[in-house]
Amino acid sequence: MVARPVEYCGASDNVIPALMPTYNRADLAFERGEGAWLWTTDGRRFLDFGSGIATTSIGHAHPHLVGAITAQAARVMHVSNLYRVPQAEKLAARLVESSFADSVFFCNSGAEANEGMIKAVRKYHAERGHPERFHTICFEGAFHGRTLATLSATGNEKYLAGFGPPVEGFAHVPFGNMNAVRDAIGPQTAAIMIEPIQGEGGVRPADLRFLRELRAVCDEFGLLLALDEVQTGMGRSGKLWAHQWAGIEPDVMSAAKGIGGGFPLGAVLAKEHVAQYLKAGTHGTTYGGNPLACAAGNAVLDVVLADGFLDGVQDVAKYLWDSLNALVSRHPTVLTGVRGAGLLLGLQCVPEVLNGDMQAAAVAEGLLTVAAGQNVLRVAPPLIVSREQVDIAVAALDRVFGQAARSREQATVK
Ligand SMILES: *Cc1c(COP(=O)(O)O)cnc(C)c1O
Repeated sequence: MVARPVEYCGASDNVIPALMPTYNRADLAFERGEGAWLWTTDGRRFLDFGSGIATTSIGHAHPHLVGAITAQAARVMHVSNLYRVPQAEKLAARLVESSFADSVFFCNSGAEANEGMIKAVRKYHAERGHPERFHTICFEGAFHGRTLATLSATGNEKYLAGFGPPVEGFAHVPFGNMNAVRDAIGPQTAAIMIEPIQGEGGVRPADLRFLRELRAVCDEFGLLLALDEVQTGMGRSGKLWAHQWAGIEPDVMSAAKGIGGGFPLGAVLAKEHVAQYLKAGTHGTTYGGNPLACAAGNAVLDVVLADGFLDGVQDVAKYLWDSLNALVSRHPTVLTGVRGAGLLLGLQCVPEVLNGDMQAAAVAEGLLTVAAGQNVLRVAPPLIVSREQVDIAVAALDRVFGQAARSREQATVK
């Protein structure tokens, strides 16, 4: 490639990095992982309680996942959806078998799954003679992705700024407020879209009763219940799908993150009454559900659906929950509580202690976590995490919050 002339880039110390700087990255580069552990290129070891944002569900370098991907890559990776893809047919059948859904559409990310879900909801009403019903009720604190429609569903002003008018048809009401939901329903309302546990928004679980009431209000007004289980699905909550805790079924649901175990894979799972309108030509994607991605998805399912696996997740999750609550009790001046479900938990920091600082301090202690909204430090280890690893992580957090508590004390004394 020909180098760009200096006058084109501006001053030479002002050149944009080749990798577009859309993220503030920690100065860590990993070369290898195994289970819940990661090693940097300079040989340091970290316990990964962030799982690449709740994505590496069965840990790093899981032999079964590596084997499935390697074998599939050596045969055929991609053929396009112009042909049958047996791996996708198998994965879809297994997801149908283990969920409320009758049919599955595969794509490549959470945002793309939500786009598909939003389109499915609009198509449903249009095909039934109500094209004016294209509005979706969403919630404050939601996160649904970074494409234009999913950003509009997210509704976060900070993320929307500078990208022109939001996509029409998204209203936002306070999370958990049933009266506000009812007030927002009008003749144009098509669906209610919600994360059973808000992930990016601060690991905020919806009340199970609230989820049941949403199901009921959808039935009352002929709306579709659209669940975003991109972060909460595939065992993260301790059940395969988080909505199962509420004993309800959505009409349509998005999944991604954990379902590929680190390989990009998204899915829209739908009941027949929704899926029937997404006929040939209505929606599509080139990569979606290709043999390689679906080999990964099938391998993850093999592990997560194995006898006793989810019981093990619930068991270690309870242990983590108890350990984090004990941590909060030891450091009440800097932590106010634990929230979330399963292995998607959050430590609520007091306003004077910033979650981002705590995340950085944990890195110094050899532990990876992820900051979330509302000043919460997200703790989301891979589903294969052991109690011993929980002990190591909590010991690191003990040092982090112990130091933060001492700093606060000193600041108060002065
Ligand atoms: C991460 C996330 C998304 C977006 O997924 P991408 O793969 O980043 O597009 C959407 N919804 C929820 C709940 C998420 O956690």
